[in-house]
This record gives sequence, C-alpha cells and structure tokens, in this order.
Amino acid sequence: MKFPIAMTAGLAGYILKNKMWPRPEWQKGPSAGVNGSNPFRILPPKAGEASAPHPMIRKRFPIVLMLEPLHACNLTCTGCGRIREYESTITERVPVEECLKAVDECGAPVVSICGGEPMMYPQIGALTTGILARNRTIYLCTNGMYIKKRLHEFRPDQRFYFNVHLDGMEKTHDLCVEREGVFREAVEGIRLAKAAGFQVCTNTTVYKETDMREIEELFAYLAQFNVDGHQIAPAYGYSAVDDREIFMTREEVYEKFRGFDRIAQKYPVRQTPLYMEFLRGERDFPCTAWGNPTYNVKGWKGPCYLITDGHYRTFEELMTETPWEHYGPGNDPRCEHCMVHCGFEPSAALGINAGLADNLKMLAWTLR
Ligand code: SF4
Repeated sequence: MKFPIAMTAGLAGYILKNKMWPRPEWQKGPSAGVNGSNPFRILPPKAGEASAPHPMIRKRFPIVLMLEPLHACNLTCTGCGRIREYESTITERVPVEECLKAVDECGAPVVSICGGEPMMYPQIGALTTGILARNRTIYLCTNGMYIKKRLHEFRPDQRFYFNVHLDGMEKTHDLCVEREGVFREAVEGIRLAKAAGFQVCTNTTVYKETDMREIEELFAYLAQFNVDGHQIAPAYGYSAVDDREIFMTREEVYEKFRGFDRIAQKYPVRQTPLYMEFLRGERDFPCTAWGNPTYNVKGWKGPCYLITDGHYRTFEELMTETPWEHYGPGNDPRCEHCMVHCGFEPSAALGINAGLADNLKMLAWTLR
C-alpha cells in the first residue's frame, strides 16, 4: 500500500466529512455565491458552452497546510521565489507556538513544512513533535544538507517524511541550486535517514530544460536507498521569479509529461493518477488553491503558494476574504499556464470532474 492504512482511512474520512458537512464559517465572503450567482467561474468555457460553476462551491476546506516557519535558506536556487519575495523578512521566524496555532486553526490533516530551509529553524524537532502530537502527517521539505547534522532531533514515525529536493542527477541538480556538492550531501542525508528508519520522499521540479530521461535515471539511482516515494510537478513562472525562460506553457507541460506514465509505473511516484492525467492534458481541473493554504511570517498568504495578493491574520479571513473567483486559468493572466500541485492536486484528491472509473483508478493507485 502506498500509505499506512490508518493514514489513508483518516484522510478519506476527513475529505468525506468536509464534503458532506462543509464548515459554514469558511464558505462566507465575496465568493459565497449568494443569489444564485456563479462566483467560481474558474474553468474557461469551451467554444459554444456556458461556463460551469465550480464543483466545490460553498465546500471549501484545506487538505495540506504549507507551513513556512522561516524563509532563510543556505541556498539560492534558480526557481525559488521565497528568498526574493520575502527578502525584507528573511531573518524573521514564526515561533513554534504560533506555528502550532496555525496547524490547529486550519485543521488540515497533512502539514508540509517548507520555507526557506526548515532544517535551519532552531526548534524544528520540537515543531515536528508538536504537529505529530496533533495526529497530522508531516512532509518536511528540505534541501537535505542539514539532515546529517540534525537527524538526532527527530524520531521515526509512520506519519513523518523527510521530503528531499532533487531536480536531477548531480551535475544538473547542483546547477539548479547554484552550488556544487549539494546533490552529494542531499543523497548522504537520504542514506542516513533511511538507515535510521525514517521515511524519505524526494521532490522534483520539472523545468523547460529538464530531460525526463534524467528524471528516470534519478529515480533508478535512488531505488538503492529504498526511497519511499517521489513527488514531481512542473515549475511555474509566477511573479516573484523573474527568469521566465525556465518555465513552461501548458502545451510544453503536456509534452514533457506525455511519456511519464511508464516511469510512474516503475517507481513509487506519489502524484495521483488523475493529476498525472491533468499534466498530460487528458483532463482539466479548476484551481483549488484553498486546499493548500500557506502560513508564514506575514500570516495566511492568499490566494496561493505562488501568488501573493495579501496576507490575512486568521485562516477564516483567508477563506472568506479572498476573492477566489478572480483566480485560476481564464480568470487571472498570472494563472494562465499554472499546473502546480498546490493548485490542482487537491482537485484530483477531491475527485472533481471524476467518474466511477476514475474513483476506482484512485483506489487502485492507493492500494498499489
Ligand atoms: S492557478 Fe496557480 S497561480 Fe493561480 S491561484 Fe491557482 S495555484 Fe495560484
């Protein structure tokens, strides 16, 4: 099975409960769809078709919290917007108590701790302990360089994963992160973490220049360490990153992922089959950015992990004051070619636009 049975059952129960009984306090605000209006015109209508209402209208809820306890990092990766966007607060950190308050406030069953480099957060051990005590699953997203030094601050847990960033084999990855030796240290971190009984995933961003044969080579190389899973998604050129040459249009993403199914069959790729179909252009989804909210030193970041049009004091304010209908392909030019997992993987997990065959496909994928 891809995930422990208790985790799978817990997540399925959470999604079902929130779909059937959505929290009313998160459905208010400018996108509430009062008077029968359609505030969620996110999917661009096909020729001759009226635009469909968003299928999750008045049913918004979070699935994965992106928690950024700090934005400081030891690297300056080419595609990273955080070190640029949050330059003025780069030395600030969210205190542990405030991080845990955000976890409680939003209630998402999965917490992705990112940043910045979260392994530079002094209380990272205490933070993960506090989140696990709340029965949440953690993906600790790291460049892997501090695993060796700080591994003793963690305990293996079936709900805890190190999620190590690797964009290719040694030469390519070191080029992407703009420093030699990073690949080797990250791989050493993976080896040590696995040897100590931890679960380890990798996280790969696909750029215009990425050779998918090299990604296959990377997964084959990592198999010797029994890596538990691979996450993969196309990069997206949002406003905080200037270098648009490295990002792809939707058509280029389709082309890049067309043959990826063969690789996903061979290695433990964690992306859902429906999201992979989306990346191949075989199905469409509306953006569900509210499914992956982000909390950082400035508060709740809206509308999504990529675009910042505001920071909100409370999670409820993020959910009710963000004009969600203004975002997504067809609504905001900044969203036009976006296919990132934080905007669309929740749509797949929620079964949007899915039929019975798709649900069976998802079930078979979970059990594989
Ligand atoms: S489409 Fe992408 S960039 Fe636009 S709101 Fe959704 S996640 Fe953000």
